[in-house]
Amino acid sequence: KVLQILGKSYKKNFVFGKEPEKTAEPEAAPAAPAVKEQQAQPQRPQPAAKKAKGKEKSKKKHSGAGEAETRPPIITVMGHVDHGKTTLLDNIRKTHVTEKEAGGITQHIGASRVEYNGNTLVFLDTPGHEAFTSMRARGAQVTDIAILVVAADDGIKPQTIEALNHAKAAGVPIVVAVNKMDKPEAKPERVRQQLSDYGLVPEEWGGDTIMVDVAAKQGLHVDDLLEMLLIVAEMQELKADPKAAPTGTVIEANLDKGKGPVATVIVQEGTLHRGDIIHTGTAWGKIRAMIDDKGNNVNSAGPSMPVEILGLENVPQPGEKFTTLSTEREARDLISQSEFERRETDQSKAKRLTLEELYEKMQTEEIPQLRIVLKTDVQGSLEAFHSSLMKMSTNAVSVNIVHEGVGRISESDVMLASASNAIIIGFNVRPDSNAKKIAENEGVQIRLYQVIYDMLDDVKAAMEGMLAPEL
Ligand code: GDP
Repeated sequence: KVLQILGKSYKKNFVFGKEPEKTAEPEAAPAAPAVKEQQAQPQRPQPAAKKAKGKEKSKKKHSGAGEAETRPPIITVMGHVDHGKTTLLDNIRKTHVTEKEAGGITQHIGASRVEYNGNTLVFLDTPGHEAFTSMRARGAQVTDIAILVVAADDGIKPQTIEALNHAKAAGVPIVVAVNKMDKPEAKPERVRQQLSDYGLVPEEWGGDTIMVDVAAKQGLHVDDLLEMLLIVAEMQELKADPKAAPTGTVIEANLDKGKGPVATVIVQEGTLHRGDIIHTGTAWGKIRAMIDDKGNNVNSAGPSMPVEILGLENVPQPGEKFTTLSTEREARDLISQSEFERRETDQSKAKRLTLEELYEKMQTEEIPQLRIVLKTDVQGSLEAFHSSLMKMSTNAVSVNIVHEGVGRISESDVMLASASNAIIIGFNVRPDSNAKKIAENEGVQIRLYQVIYDMLDDVKAAMEGMLAPEL
């Protein structure tokens, strides 16, 4: 949504091989009506370079303890296999470490900070939408912006579409990196055309999506990509209060032979300190040491900062939120309490997303939505199902196909359905065994059909159920 405004007001055309104008001024943005702070109405964008020099961090009153300050964006790289996600991340990390750190070894803690033009950006080290969506299924969203990498010589592929649907379902703005532009067979216009068919229309065509032509391997125009990311971040007005009670999300965790339980967390509010007692739902501990992404020991970590923490009593799960507590006693009590609650919810979880009961969840939405992940055996039936389903939308209940594709129902489909409160509809396809197991664990319903009318009848009944008055 942010990008819709961004695209209109900040047009910047990149011609591959040419230096982009560094001083492009945004076109006049329509006068924005006065809005409440919580609505997060994006302001007129400013070129990132301007902000870089000044130290005028925008500050706003915040309901928390202190003041909300601008925080760095957290970025995930997504896209089809071999389109250059890892190469792009490596290039960004190698090129944009500060002088002081240049000789140092970058330590893998699960996320890296890079500096560009005096601004910080945080990149999650694991590319792909799988980790992104499984964290979201656990209720955590750390990503602010998704980079969708598409190789210009290959065009969009099934995982490109999967990635863009996962990002869209999460409401995360997408910036497209059209990669491998050094290749003679690169066809960036074709990529733009293909993405337009999926609703990502490049801003130079009047759409809302920023697309930057790059060659990750050679590092060409990667700076332009970073600049665009900073502009999108600025539009989002990402803020956090460094003085608030510290909270954040576990992004990686494992048991290290020497160090014991080790977890990387990203701080989302407040500032985490060495010595704090931290609690994640399944794990707790007193922070003995914190290590940043450059391998330095640090005493504190503020908003958007990833740190590896030592001193936990046990290993937490990625996607868990952390909070801090004042005594170890409190932490222990909470752990046993949450274990009890988990056992309770595990028993009721299987019912969570049955088609018949979905409507309960939907009552809270303005226009209830029946969200669907659709998988079919062949492209022809995908199209037929798609149009039949879309025709079923009414003014009272809308059908929202969050993802569709040809092939077996995969783990990724199930995680997306779980994260989006969707059901999965399969036509002449089955879930693979892994997907089936996860669907059971996550309480995601999979409905399999061989006859289109059976499916339509069920969906109709479900939609009517969603509208039924409560008795
Ligand atoms: P991933 O699977 O998306 O992480 O893709 P990788 O980063 O592993 O890249 C796949 C292959 O494409 C590797 O052999 C890279 O060297 C190559 N590659 C990545 N970016 C570029 C590029 O900009 N130009 C060219 N010619 N090759 C690239």
